[in-house]
Amino acid sequence: MPTVLITGAGRGLGLEFVRQYAAQGWRVHACARRPEKAEASKGEVLTHPLDVRDAGQIAALRDALAGEAIDLLINNAGIYGPRGASIANVSDADWLEVFHVNSVAPLRVASALAENVAKSGLKLMVFITSQLGSIARMGAGVQPYRMSKAALNAGVRGLSLELAGRGITSVVFHPGWVRTDMGGAGAALDPKTSIAGMRAVIARLKASDNGRFLDYDGAEIPW
Ligand code: NAP
Repeated sequence: MPTVLITGAGRGLGLEFVRQYAAQGWRVHACARRPEKAEASKGEVLTHPLDVRDAGQIAALRDALAGEAIDLLINNAGIYGPRGASIANVSDADWLEVFHVNSVAPLRVASALAENVAKSGLKLMVFITSQLGSIARMGAGVQPYRMSKAALNAGVRGLSLELAGRGITSVVFHPGWVRTDMGGAGAALDPKTSIAGMRAVIARLKASDNGRFLDYDGAEIPW
């Protein structure tokens, strides 16, 4: 069975990715700051400590997995930043923190593990973004989060071109508005539906999908 590596795997959407892929018999590398719930999932789940801001932990993960094929890398870890944050009231430190976790870290992780993905059968990289980062659909408010996801999208577009020559297909996904700690209790979707939707789309990804911005059900989202 294929191998998947998931960041932010301790709760929310990351944990649901772990549960569903492990239940399907995949070998799962669950990377998290607090991996207890992932560890308790049924199936072949190997946990790794990973704060995605920590360059030393990313290097240690790369070394621990040297030579191992990773069919699917899911960069899922993300933060919303302070609730109600706007350009007028957010501190530089909070703003840069959102950028570090949401925009810089996923590309650092992808770069560190590109060799593992390139030597796999499926050669897929998935980045969990948000439609709030769509410039075509830009709205007011939550600018630190919106900008961090727009930056992630731009970064993945560039990375997808860099890695295409090695046979890697990279896409960004909006997971829907989902009932997690981030999405809140009033969100439209449960995690099972969001993750099942993305898994179905991931299973159909082709090289011609490289660099696309997709909704959890496979619909195209404008940049
Ligand atoms: P969540 O319930 O708040 O979970 C966030 C996850 O990211 C947790 O596992 C958290 O780990 C991890 N994380 C945060 N900072 C990290 C760091 N520095 N290092 C490692 N892990 C870190 O949110 P979620 O809804 O599952 O969100 C998952 C992804 O979907 C995010 O990228 C988010 O932006 C995106 N998204 C969510 C929604 C939604 O409606 N839920 C909509 C659009 C996009 P800890 O437990 O260690 O904090």
